[in-house]
Amino acid sequence: MNSDSIYLDEDLDAIRRQTQEFIAREIVPHADQWEVDGRVPREVIRQMGELGFLGLRHPETYGGLAKGALYSAVFAEALGGSTYGGFEVTILVHTDMASPHLIHSGNSEQLDRYMGKIVSGEILTAIAVSEPAAGSDVAGMRSSARRDGPSDSDDWLINGSKIFITNGVTADLLIVAARTEPGNPRGISMFLVEKDAPGLVISRKLEKTGWLSSDTAELSFQDCRVPARNLLGTENRGFYEIMKNFQNERLVLSGMSIGASQKALDLTYDWTQNRTAFGGVLFDKQVIRQRLAMQQAKVDAGRQLLYHSAWLMEQGIDATREVSELKAFAGELVNQVTYDCVQFHGGAGYMRETAVERMSRDARVMSIGGGATEVMLEEVAKRSKV
Ligand SMILES: Cc1cc2nc3c(=O)[nH]c(=O)nc-3n(C[C@H](O)[C@H](O)[C@H](O)COP(=O)(O)OP(=O)(O)OC[C@H]3O[C@@H](n4cnc5c(N)ncnc54)[C@H](O)[C@@H]3O)c2cc1C
Repeated sequence: MNSDSIYLDEDLDAIRRQTQEFIAREIVPHADQWEVDGRVPREVIRQMGELGFLGLRHPETYGGLAKGALYSAVFAEALGGSTYGGFEVTILVHTDMASPHLIHSGNSEQLDRYMGKIVSGEILTAIAVSEPAAGSDVAGMRSSARRDGPSDSDDWLINGSKIFITNGVTADLLIVAARTEPGNPRGISMFLVEKDAPGLVISRKLEKTGWLSSDTAELSFQDCRVPARNLLGTENRGFYEIMKNFQNERLVLSGMSIGASQKALDLTYDWTQNRTAFGGVLFDKQVIRQRLAMQQAKVDAGRQLLYHSAWLMEQGIDATREVSELKAFAGELVNQVTYDCVQFHGGAGYMRETAVERMSRDARVMSIGGGATEVMLEEVAKRSKV
């Protein structure tokens, strides 16, 4: 047992420590340049693969550790302390949002083809679900796929567009959702689409408020040809696969938010305990230290809900309510915390050279992406125990 939480143990502590040490050594000294470049270098992703960070949940046969959701939660929380949200999401999309679809639905031939390279970092993955006219409402998806012939061995042709796709410019393998059963809103299938598939066009690299070191793409599929063997899972069952992995996606996004909130508070304790004004340090002002204390209480509460949700998932218990509460809570919290942290840094908090400035920009998407707060609250309300 660990004094931080009844859910943690020495192995989870070790993953947290190793992640933090890696961030301090290999990320923080270089990531300002990646914010300018708009991408994380592939050598860093391969290095993370070599060190075992990319396969925490992945099968041991392919070099992974085959661990449970608590590993994702602790890893995401530790990454969240890097202060570079763009780096964090590049990695977490690969480990916990895109590649799990292959773990859950891939056949042995597909696993053999890709999984070892995913765990080693040789290939980077992306998940393409959102569309210009359908984000929160996945069932409103318009992209479609049809077979180019009557037989099950014929290629698929995908048509449509996807937007806001993280790693969309640089990924080697995209997991793409498309409608395969016209007339059924849930008649969606998943496809493994390699970056050089004929008819896959990167329409735009999108410019964002934050997450600057993450590449975000708009993609166009123009009779994009995908071999029959690249259908992932059962035809027309993709909607349910997307819904299932949403829990994992929301868990790690929340982990990022909790980790970032704690780091922003730590930076602000440090700042306010050293910055002098009106004959003392800022932390001596009761209004400041009490505001920070209240935010700390919320972060501590959110962290326990993070671990509890992950534990429920590990037990195979439906955690939709808890994960939805967590995503709504953590996504709002990181915005409130970073707002206060910028405020207490004063003018310095508005300068690009200060970490909390970047963190406040990176925070903004956390209440939108992967399930907006309002959508999460609807999930909670549907399950409320009145
Ligand atoms: C930087 C970034 C990276 C992303 N990466 C990916 C990715 O890798 N892959 C991918 O597939 N998608 C990705 N997304 C898409 C993301 O998941 C969607 O933006 C999100 O699901 C919201 O969809 P939308 O933007 O279409 O907003 P809409 O669905 O149009 O909703 C707009 C707003 O309306 C409100 N709203 C929506 N529904 C309800 C409701 N039922 N009740 C009350 N209010 C509601 C919410 O406030 C919401 O923010 C990314 C987005 C961003 C910004």
